[in-house]
Amino acid sequence: MSKQNNHDIMTDCVFCKIIRGDIPTDMHYVSDRVVAFSDINPIAPVHILIIPVTHIASMNDITDDDAETIAELFFVAKKIAKEHGIAESGYKLLIRTGRDGGQEVPHVHLHIIGGAPLAEGICPCKSDDVE
Ligand code: AMP
Ligand code: ZN
Repeated sequence: MSKQNNHDIMTDCVFCKIIRGDIPTDMHYVSDRVVAFSDINPIAPVHILIIPVTHIASMNDITDDDAETIAELFFVAKKIAKEHGIAESGYKLLIRTGRDGGQEVPHVHLHIIGGAPLAEGICPCKSDDVE
């Protein structure tokens, strides 16, 4: 069943600003549907964000109409991994969603992280750590 797509243009979204060219960044990929740029605070030698051009707040907001865009995020990850020489050494792909997922920017983004051995880092917080 196809749902109505309702991804409002966001004037105050940092990633929408990057797409509009209002914030300069290091672009790695641009298409009509998807762009990829360097994370401003990299946690590994390769840390690139791959995002839909249209503002989608989180994975909870994707619709059937976004299927090709979401697929393209992952194909771009594969391409970037090859271009940055980490396809064979390996990498992680991460989409944080919502509070427990630790999502900070409310515009869907796929992190590709690699270029060094990566810690596990996906376990639940200890109860003391939860605010
Ligand atoms: P998340 O915690 O999954 O929502 O990730 C948000 C990511 O966006 C973080 O890794 C930030 O370093 C990154 N980020 C925030 N602002 C910018 C920016 N202007 N350019 C590039 N990356 C950014
Ligand atoms: Zn946005």
